[in-house]
Amino acid sequence: MNLDVLIGGAIRQFGQRTAVFDDRRKVGFDELGERIDRLGSALAALGLVRGDRIASLQRNSIETVETDLMAARFGYVRTLLNARSSAEDHVHCIGHCGARALIFGAGFADHVDALRDRLPNVEFFIAVGGAPARALPYDDLIRRQTAAPPPWTVEEHHPHSVYYTSGTTGRPKGVLLSQRNWLVVVRNHLVDTFRHARETDVLLHATPLSFASGCAVIPHLVRGASQRILEQFDARRVYEAIERDRVTTTILVPTMIQMMLDLPGSESFDTGSLHTVLYGGAPMAAERIRETFERWGPVLMQGYGQWEAPQLISRLGRREHAEAIADPAKARRLASAGRPLSFVRVGIVDDEGALQPAGTEGEIVTAGDHLMVGYLDNEEATEELREGPWQRTGDIGKLDEDGYLYLTDRKKDVIVTGGSNVYPRDIEDVLYRHPDLLEAVAVGVPSEQWGETVHVVAVPRRGRELDGEALVDWCRERLPPDKRPRSASIVDSLPKSGYGKILRREVRQSFWRGRDRRI
Ligand code: AMP
Repeated sequence: MNLDVLIGGAIRQFGQRTAVFDDRRKVGFDELGERIDRLGSALAALGLVRGDRIASLQRNSIETVETDLMAARFGYVRTLLNARSSAEDHVHCIGHCGARALIFGAGFADHVDALRDRLPNVEFFIAVGGAPARALPYDDLIRRQTAAPPPWTVEEHHPHSVYYTSGTTGRPKGVLLSQRNWLVVVRNHLVDTFRHARETDVLLHATPLSFASGCAVIPHLVRGASQRILEQFDARRVYEAIERDRVTTTILVPTMIQMMLDLPGSESFDTGSLHTVLYGGAPMAAERIRETFERWGPVLMQGYGQWEAPQLISRLGRREHAEAIADPAKARRLASAGRPLSFVRVGIVDDEGALQPAGTEGEIVTAGDHLMVGYLDNEEATEELREGPWQRTGDIGKLDEDGYLYLTDRKKDVIVTGGSNVYPRDIEDVLYRHPDLLEAVAVGVPSEQWGETVHVVAVPRRGRELDGEALVDWCRERLPPDKRPRSASIVDSLPKSGYGKILRREVRQSFWRGRDRRI
């Protein structure tokens, strides 16, 4: 079995129906099939073979979907880079996965040109849209090549993709997924999350295809639905797309939902075509869930997951949202991350790895056929997560008697703000350059709008003074927008362990006390 059985099957079955479309053009299933065969064959003609890695740096576009499906069909291993990450992260990820080709969108030409000398493994730079000098034009590759199926067979155990994700320190780690992993992602979506998806559906990709939105592509292709591409999230444009294209399904992070609710005049848009809005990646406050429910109706579905156990572990379904809103006895469930998916096991373990009964807080572990192959070239880090059939998630939580999972904390230090991952180390490296600062930690603190925002707790050097606001301004000049602290407090000392290690979690927890849902 391989992903092409699904992709090829959908193309044959739905022929002339629209598979993907944006503001300007529509691509039918058969045309999509033809284009991905041409693209895949063009790469083979350049000398790429099954298992070679292709990095893609694009905002959402029809070409992003094509690249994704082409790689799956031909057995190239794709890495979809986060367009919002720093140049350093891009260099790291492209080098770490050893990409031979880099496909980049029109808006990234200068960025890629500036990095070019630092990407020695990239042999082919392929530009979507107007091609700059020293790059192959994507459209020419497709136009000049005749379509042919892959010249090799692709099997279940072959690698499918590398996703870069949270680490406690340093650079993101590469999560290696196989064709089998992705088949499981598709199956789980078809069995649980998108089990109602059908031919008449329109799925709107408003969040990056390099994140959760990308997991919805093949499940909807298989069901013959059309996929509406939005280059990037913009609250008004999402409403306009929903209204004009009769969107039925979309995937958003809580912050985006909040921005949409707050958009002046948003009540006048018709969202009546929606039946499913999958949200996740970060918690959403119960009050916000109620507000969204009132505005958009019973469309909300929550997903909790991570790339190491792709892509979802648990979900709170639409009916469960409705019941929790209507029935005070079930209201607590709005603070949960729902129940495990049908094919996924979830447990809670203590520090020794022993499974705990309902009601006890501990680390969330998961087992099933959804677990990643492992971190790319990092067996040690993979082994650290594994405990028999179980894999640790790094999230702390508990299960209740009815099997609902509550997330209460995170072992990892990553700060999830507006659905983006921010590593405290990146901020602290900058902070420690401040001449008056002795030590500091960056932690995530509660925010209605962003889920978490970055807060800095800093200690001045002896005899020096620090001012919270001035420190925030100082960081603003030195950090990209998504990593900037929003606030800072100045203290005399930070809590430390017996070994003198700063107890980051203790600092963080002091901001989250008394909340029904801490992450
Ligand atoms: P990533 O692998 O980069 O997508 O990050 C996954 C992490 O995001 C998880 O381990 C959680 O800490 C957090 N996360 C994902 N979904 C949710 C959710 N529904 N509620 C709270 N946190 C979430």
